[in-house]
Amino acid sequence: MTATSDMGTPDLGVQPTPLALLLLGQRSDSDSERGTACPGELPAASDPTLVARARTAKDALGDKVFVLGHHYQRDEVIQFADVTGDSFKLAREAAARPEASYVVFCGVHFMAESADILTGNHQQVVLPDLAAGCSMADMATAEQVAEAWDVLTDAGIAGGRGSGASGNRGGRGSGASGNPVTVPVSYMNSSAAIKAFTGRHGGTICTSSNAEVAMRWALDQGDAGGKGEKVLFLPDQHLGRNTAVLQLGLSLDDCVVYDPRRPNGGLTVDQLRAATVILWKGHCSVHGRFTAQTVTEVRERVPGVTVLVHPECKHEVVTAADLVGSTEFIIKTIEAAPSGSAWAIGTELNLVSRLAKAHPDKTIVFLDKTVCFCSTMNRIDLPHLVWALESLVDGRVVNRIDVDNDTAHYAKVALDQMLALPGI
Ligand code: SF4
Repeated sequence: MTATSDMGTPDLGVQPTPLALLLLGQRSDSDSERGTACPGELPAASDPTLVARARTAKDALGDKVFVLGHHYQRDEVIQFADVTGDSFKLAREAAARPEASYVVFCGVHFMAESADILTGNHQQVVLPDLAAGCSMADMATAEQVAEAWDVLTDAGIAGGRGSGASGNRGGRGSGASGNPVTVPVSYMNSSAAIKAFTGRHGGTICTSSNAEVAMRWALDQGDAGGKGEKVLFLPDQHLGRNTAVLQLGLSLDDCVVYDPRRPNGGLTVDQLRAATVILWKGHCSVHGRFTAQTVTEVRERVPGVTVLVHPECKHEVVTAADLVGSTEFIIKTIEAAPSGSAWAIGTELNLVSRLAKAHPDKTIVFLDKTVCFCSTMNRIDLPHLVWALESLVDGRVVNRIDVDNDTAHYAKVALDQMLALPGI
């Protein structure tokens, strides 16, 4: 018999997400640092002196401050970035500037965490608005992933809880005797806690540029040192599936989706044992909006168009498109495209708009007909940037992102493993 909840609706065994997304502009969550409070005076968005104020504050700070701007940031913010890039490029750029006491990260929370992990102890990382989270990163919490690992361990395909804070790296190890073991591969777009989990369990971080290499490496790990190992891919199911099927040549049937809101991930032990890639049920709310229908429609709308999409898009979109690649790949492809060519791009709208402005000799359209900004990226606006910079000038470090030492240590183990992958 199906149980019913208090509301009289059937209980399907779905548990609420422990870390619910905050409504923008409402409430705060001090545990996850995603507070929306902004102590002090936030300049009005209509203040006509904002650009001049940002410039003055940045000049006053000189080499003490280094401003990073993700490709998805607004134009009004990106103009103040010392360097622009994707999340990993920006974290490495921050690490290469030890002279900068302050790193102001115009991006989202997990990116600022990575910058804090990779920069020195004398450097402080600032996220101008703590509400700039990432819905995808929030889809995998440390508690959910620890529970999932227990499920995999009970199924005989993972090596237990790992070393924790003891300093003994491990946990990949053997599953039940003779069974393949699971190696976690976590996308950069994950919290520091998930990166630390990955490091503790002998896994690696990946980006959308190197997911193929990372997954191949993971499948070659294990006591036997040969094939037959498994990957737990966190937290973006689409990047994991697209990589497994389109780049590694696996079939869709080789992949299963682990839903953290269902008992045992909604999977049987046999399904877990049979799978090669266990995909976490997470996705990007921006790239997840595109459909195969939007690809069909843009082909009707724009004659001769080439469709170029990010691998965070659904499998049906990626297979319908002409080209798929990371943010950096998208930028380079458009830069190299011949004058007069036509492109429909499936990624965040700020970037697509900037590419269209920078290449007026080419037709560049957004893949969807409706607006598709990343709302959390857009939280970083000029008033918040001015507030963060002017506070630094006044000697106050606001909205500092500070990852605890143990988490940072194991997250760095996983990040270093990525850097050690062949061809990185
Ligand atoms: S575009 Fe998607 S993955 Fe990137 S920050 Fe926004 S929600 Fe997260």
